[in-house]
Amino acid sequence: MTNALWPKAYRIKVVEPIRLPEREEREKLLREAGYNVFNLASDDVYVDLLTDSGTGAMSQAQWAALMEGDESYAGSRSFARFREVVQGITGFPYVLPTHQGRGAEHVLFSTLLQPGDVVPSNAHFDTTRAHILASGGKPVDLPIPDALDPDLDRPFKGDIDLAALEALLRNPPGRIPVVMLTVTNNTSAGQPVSLQNVRAASALARAYGVPLFLDACRYAENCFFVRERERGYGSAEPREIAAELFSLADGCTMSAKKDGLGNIGGFLAMRDRLLYGRCREKLILVEGFSTYGGLAGRDLAAIAVGLDEALDLGYLRDRIGQVRWLGERLREEGIPVYWPPGGHAVYVNAERLLPHIPRDAFPGQALVGAIYVEGGVRAVEVGSAMMGPEARLELVRLAIPRRTYTQEHLAAVVEALGRVRDKADTVPGLRLVEGEGPLRHFVARFEPIA
Ligand SMILES: *Cc1c(COP(=O)(O)O)cnc(C)c1O
Repeated sequence: MTNALWPKAYRIKVVEPIRLPEREEREKLLREAGYNVFNLASDDVYVDLLTDSGTGAMSQAQWAALMEGDESYAGSRSFARFREVVQGITGFPYVLPTHQGRGAEHVLFSTLLQPGDVVPSNAHFDTTRAHILASGGKPVDLPIPDALDPDLDRPFKGDIDLAALEALLRNPPGRIPVVMLTVTNNTSAGQPVSLQNVRAASALARAYGVPLFLDACRYAENCFFVRERERGYGSAEPREIAAELFSLADGCTMSAKKDGLGNIGGFLAMRDRLLYGRCREKLILVEGFSTYGGLAGRDLAAIAVGLDEALDLGYLRDRIGQVRWLGERLREEGIPVYWPPGGHAVYVNAERLLPHIPRDAFPGQALVGAIYVEGGVRAVEVGSAMMGPEARLELVRLAIPRRTYTQEHLAAVVEALGRVRDKADTVPGLRLVEGEGPLRHFVARFEPIA
């Protein structure tokens, strides 16, 4: 499956107009946005690769399901269908809908954590981190060393470091109430986790009596990589792989804005009935009654359809093929990209493209601005603006919304990055002038260093 030869899994029925503002306008808009593209209006963005979260196109079957949404407060048929689909995929008997993934994180961690608790993971996503911190816990990332090498071509760079996990479980610096595995590993460049690694982590957690939860936002994409790269799964259906993946865990948090193919939504699911009861109480307090969890019945109906569609092999081949195509084209153009490309995004190595900008002048954030100015393309920094001094790499993420952009859009992204490369040494570093805390990157403002 190389360049452009993957079979498309859909054609276009509805279109949304977009516009490329003039270059001087883009410079002005970026300045007014405090060099933070979160502050740009979407109408001023040509190709929006800020996130793949909730930005995908729904299918005709999902739009049809919306019309059949049951808006009853309690016991709605849309919830029953949603629960049935989640149970069918995960095997977890207890399912709580939430308004999005962070709602599930809030409910789980505020129920499970006490101050001083430690939560290990292959790498926590930013909202997961923030929720653990907000509950007084300590998030600990244990990626394998390979994940920190942006050039090493390995099939499962999202794996957790099992030796480090065992050492932590054996000698915990605080109580460990849950081990998390993020599949795919968003913070580690969207890299997949092997089933072998999940199996081993699951056995370790079990040996120490600690439940294992999956941050399952992109589990379907992870299952596709397992099928392609892990011995013994070459002819397995994504759904079968998913069943095995979830069988190794005690529960999951999920953002339906990713592999639920929804524009909003999420869920928390688990095996433990007692924990479920406690989470349900919290859910009713912060999200809504347990048969809607902050969602409209029509959202639940559309997500139920989307969850099934995201496991379709043709869809996954198209999806992962598109991301890979972008990664390969950028690499051919001499743009340093994290290798191999992940499931939902291509990550550009900002430190290498802009070697004259030191870490404390935010090379990733500076690159995000330059990409907008050169092509109207919106990307996002995953480096020290997002993670502070704990950032291990200075990356810029080009996240691909599901079923939304064509190869022409992505070719425009390649061209924009080519223009940045040609004038890389003229891109200035940035100074942070506003914003603090673990989620500062959403609101921060910067100014260029003269
Ligand atoms: C998006 C995401 C979340 C949070 O989900 P939201 O729906 O944005 O609240 C958690 N973990 C990972 C890995 C994610 O990608």
